[in-house]
Amino acid sequence: MARFLGYTHPACLDHDTGPGHAECPERLEAVLEAVHHAFPRLEWIEAPRATRGQLLRVHEPMLLGRVLDSHPRQRIPLDPDTVLSPGSAEAALRAAGAGVAATEAVLNGETDVAFCAVRPPGHHATAGAAMGFCLFDSIAVAAAHALDKFGLARVAIIDFDVHHGNGTQAIFNREPAVAYFSSHQSGLFPHTGSVHERGVGNMHNVLLPPGSGGFRFRNTWLDTLLPALDAFRPQLVLVSAGFDAHLSDPLADLMLEAEDFAWITAELRTIADRHGEGRLVSMLEGGYSLDALAECAVAHVGALRA
Ligand SMILES: [Zn+2]
Repeated sequence: MARFLGYTHPACLDHDTGPGHAECPERLEAVLEAVHHAFPRLEWIEAPRATRGQLLRVHEPMLLGRVLDSHPRQRIPLDPDTVLSPGSAEAALRAAGAGVAATEAVLNGETDVAFCAVRPPGHHATAGAAMGFCLFDSIAVAAAHALDKFGLARVAIIDFDVHHGNGTQAIFNREPAVAYFSSHQSGLFPHTGSVHERGVGNMHNVLLPPGSGGFRFRNTWLDTLLPALDAFRPQLVLVSAGFDAHLSDPLADLMLEAEDFAWITAELRTIADRHGEGRLVSMLEGGYSLDALAECAVAHVGALRA
């Protein structure tokens, strides 16, 4: 069984997106409650804040100013989907800090795998802009930390969220030390991630049509993305773990089930074992059906620990 650490912080519940918003604090409560119930002996660590220096490896000073220094007294929209509330800066700092701390723990040999149960999600945030429910691209901050502090030469980011991680792709589009592997539903926000978007050969995108289901999802990963990931020989595997491809999700139609997320997680662990001494950090991204999110997070954590 792999050594496992969970990272979270109560401040992640204080990012207040407002009534009726899909990316709500109840998402994280559902994940934590279900995972605590299923795995009561797991060790959880309170996520530290990311530092400005860590954020500035991937983000522009203007975005840090907007998120961290505007101190809003009420919710203000950053774009039609993305809100900054009084608690958002602290939540974003803890979410990014979780990824940094988990990456350090894995690379220092304190654990094999780590799961960051945090919000807001991150993979749509670009170097200069918050968007798509995301303020900072936490997984990109974690990858940049692995490159800069630990000198890794090959870090893989795997993104099975139903949406394309346009922010992560844009940040590392010209960085061959980071390879990005994503399957996502066609025709959805943010309308990027075609198979032709290859960066410097480090971007690997596959579009799946609505209604694909688990069989097509698994075959797509087996035929193209997993062989490419294996050939990259990642020293560290980072996972943008969104569960909005589940059949119950209100924002998408990819029709996966919890066992499909357990399957891809096990495949990623196999590759992490083969090339990176098992080192894997997963970060929560999307997932908007509370019941499905809870079920999928339990399946994911179960496969991470197996
Ligand atoms: Zn998503």
